[in-house]
Amino acid sequence: MPDRFAISAETVVPMNGPPIDHGAVIVLNAKIESVVPKHQLPSGIECDDYPDSLLLPAFVNAHTHLVLTAFRGMADDVDLFTWLADHVLPLDLDRREDECRASAAAGVEKCFRNGITAVAEQHYTTWGRDAMHDAGMKGIFFYEVFGLGTLDLTRSTEGHRELIEKFAGEATNEICFGVAPHAPYTVTPPMARMACEMAWKYDLPMTTHIAETREEVEFFLHGTGRFSTARRGARYPTPDGKHTSVDYFNDLGLLTENTLIVHGVHLSDSDLNIISDIKCPMLTCPTSNSKLGVGIARVGAWVNHGLNVCIGTDSAASGETFDLFEEMRRFVLMQRGLTGELDQFSAEDVLRMVTTNPAKAMGMSDMIGDLREGSCADLLLVQPDLEGVIKYRDPYGTLLWDVKSENIRKVWSDGQEVYSK
Ligand SMILES: [Zn+2]
Repeated sequence: MPDRFAISAETVVPMNGPPIDHGAVIVLNAKIESVVPKHQLPSGIECDDYPDSLLLPAFVNAHTHLVLTAFRGMADDVDLFTWLADHVLPLDLDRREDECRASAAAGVEKCFRNGITAVAEQHYTTWGRDAMHDAGMKGIFFYEVFGLGTLDLTRSTEGHRELIEKFAGEATNEICFGVAPHAPYTVTPPMARMACEMAWKYDLPMTTHIAETREEVEFFLHGTGRFSTARRGARYPTPDGKHTSVDYFNDLGLLTENTLIVHGVHLSDSDLNIISDIKCPMLTCPTSNSKLGVGIARVGAWVNHGLNVCIGTDSAASGETFDLFEEMRRFVLMQRGLTGELDQFSAEDVLRMVTTNPAKAMGMSDMIGDLREGSCADLLLVQPDLEGVIKYRDPYGTLLWDVKSENIRKVWSDGQEVYSK
């Protein structure tokens, strides 16, 4: 492609302003120069015209584990504890590096095919980060910290500290770096303190799986249940029937306005008040949560508390797919099934959960998430199949309800085509 070119569509949905009928995006040196009505395009500029399509910012998937892409289908009908302890961890710890690098590369390719050009990758190896770098994908690499006290599954606290220092020094503008204490039930106080200390030292974002299951709630409140057996010997606070996993991480300093909370299916009202006071961004994984049978997060309450809400896929090992169009629809349907409320989220609200909101949660709003001047030219072109259908819906409604992943026509990252149908 030339250094400067334009793409026009029936409708451009910039997400930082109203949709533009017969609009165009001008790209200059891999960045967005401007978004204009097509008739205002400069004369002589090379323009690809897609008169029956919608052009919007490429999607941002703020929670996944690219390395686990190849583990899809390893356990379809088990609960989270069994899934993690008996399937994911044994496989993940006994894997061959070349297989896992191939798995991560496949994950990146599947993201591109599904219109995703930025992800928050979480793993305790750099294999996902390296695959992102090789393919020109941007985002955050969250280094995952596990520490079970008597059993350090990956490495010791000092080993984690050394790697965090190393990886923090390797961060770039395109692939930032952060720390991911895996979950309250897998990170003991010494490991959590180290993660927190390093996050403050290097001004790093954090993320964590929290309140995913009832078993986690039971373990922190009462010290009972399945997690108590596995965590025996790890020096957790003594349960008092009042303090939850959110209290545990908050007391250790792990919850900040730059801590992206993933899942949050079983947050109590007081948990939500704590999170609201801190203003942690939140992310829900509708398919993963339902497939593992952990429940449905009360996302309406997150929105009512003014929190920044995102939708992500989690890994293919639990979420199955990188199809955020499908994930958006499932999200709305599940929330309607949960509450019976039809007007909790507008179609525009839901579109924001896979574009502007995750970009903000990842601290990358100036690069991705909307079509603002100077942003990266990360674009998604879709051609919905509306043959024989009267157009009742506005562009946001069309994107939420009509568009399937097979309707994705082209995807650009930094002005380069990374997928074309
Ligand atoms: Zn996850």
